[in-house]
Amino acid sequence: MDFALPDELAELQATVRRLAQDKVKPRARQIDETAEYPQDLFELFRDAGLLGLCIPTAYGGSGAGILGLTIAIEEVAKYSNTAALMLLLTRLPTGPVMIAGSEEQKQRYLPGIADGSQRAAFGLSEPQAGSDVMGMRTRAVRDGDAWVLNGTKCWMSGVVQADWYTVFAKTADEVTSRRHDSTTAFIVERAWDGVGVGSTDRKMGVRGVDTGELLLTDVRVPAENVIGEVGGFRLAMLGLNSMRPIVAARGIGLAEGALMYATDYVQQREAFGQTIADFQGIQWEIAALATEIEAARLLTYRSAVLADEGKFTKEWVPYLSMAKYYATEVAVKASGLAVQLLGAAGYMKDHLTELYYRDAKQLTIVEGTSQVQLGLIARGVLDRDLWWD
Ligand SMILES: Cc1cc2nc3c(=O)[nH]c(=O)nc-3n(C[C@H](O)[C@H](O)[C@H](O)COP(=O)(O)OP(=O)(O)OC[C@H]3O[C@@H](n4cnc5c(N)ncnc54)[C@H](O)[C@@H]3O)c2cc1C
Repeated sequence: MDFALPDELAELQATVRRLAQDKVKPRARQIDETAEYPQDLFELFRDAGLLGLCIPTAYGGSGAGILGLTIAIEEVAKYSNTAALMLLLTRLPTGPVMIAGSEEQKQRYLPGIADGSQRAAFGLSEPQAGSDVMGMRTRAVRDGDAWVLNGTKCWMSGVVQADWYTVFAKTADEVTSRRHDSTTAFIVERAWDGVGVGSTDRKMGVRGVDTGELLLTDVRVPAENVIGEVGGFRLAMLGLNSMRPIVAARGIGLAEGALMYATDYVQQREAFGQTIADFQGIQWEIAALATEIEAARLLTYRSAVLADEGKFTKEWVPYLSMAKYYATEVAVKASGLAVQLLGAAGYMKDHLTELYYRDAKQLTIVEGTSQVQLGLIARGVLDRDLWWD
């Protein structure tokens, strides 16, 4: 057992850390205020080879895996969760393709993500189906050598910029079917007839990468664009399970950034004849949070290693869900403490603390809420998948 990163990942961490400090940090506030897609950061990540971290070398990526992407996202999220989301989007829609896609799909769709010539997004949620994904109503009906898709996906991150989408739809006869073999994954290209972007959301945080609706009206999807097998809903869960470390990385990075920011401030700010950092009560808060951040980091790195080993099936779910649950809750806590430690200054837009605070909250909602993760962890213990005997 070794807690040190292998040399190549330590090098990646150092490189992305510099890049995040030099290029991402100065842009964070502006991205939030304009809410404009930061194309400059996309190009920066492309030129630094970060868009292909999780894509195997056979498909144009660098093969750094989920752990590599986790480490890069942690660094970037110290300053901008929007930038971290841009990196996350290289894995969320491509995950199902890498897990169960055909060789032809991998050759066709993965290299463009790795070299930045294409972008993708992931459509599972619908207005009436968030946590309850089986409530989805988007429908795919077989017609000759194609499937015809109709429906609306919502809250889709990166929907505006995407060139293709991983979309889940009901393929059972009954759209209300809750059977797990009633749902299938498809690759849908933006340029196809009937594919449109609907309204975009007015978000509290993580502005700059829009979330919004994907409208599907009589879209003909060739049968070869089914990912995995027809009725393969399990793929949605496998894809999301393998994403837990990557969402967790956005949480630990944000928590580290917020705590470092607040620490710098309390060491400067004076009150009652000393600095705020001299008060023991403040030191204890910093110490407790630093401990939680390190605990979350260990859970996150372990979950990334497991995911890279292909351990994202049911028996590994508690370890993966714990990382997502804990790291994102720590992010919310850290950003709240950071605002508090800066007092009035922390509440104002002159400081990054209020941005951390707004950005953090979505992390406990996306890709399975904290409650959903707790349910999965509990199921793991009750089923003895997580047991200490
Ligand atoms: C910024 C942002 C980006 C997003 N990006 C994407 C994307 O790219 N693609 C995509 O498909 N979706 C995306 N989503 C949607 C996201 O996955 C859903 O919001 C999430 O799954 C929760 O669904 P919901 O919002 O419908 O909440 P609901 O399911 O309505 O839940 C409401 C509340 O009830 C709780 N709850 C629900 N069920 C249970 C239960 N069984 N036990 C206890 N509590 C429960 C939830 O935890 C939550 O607190 C995004 C959301 C946001 C906010």
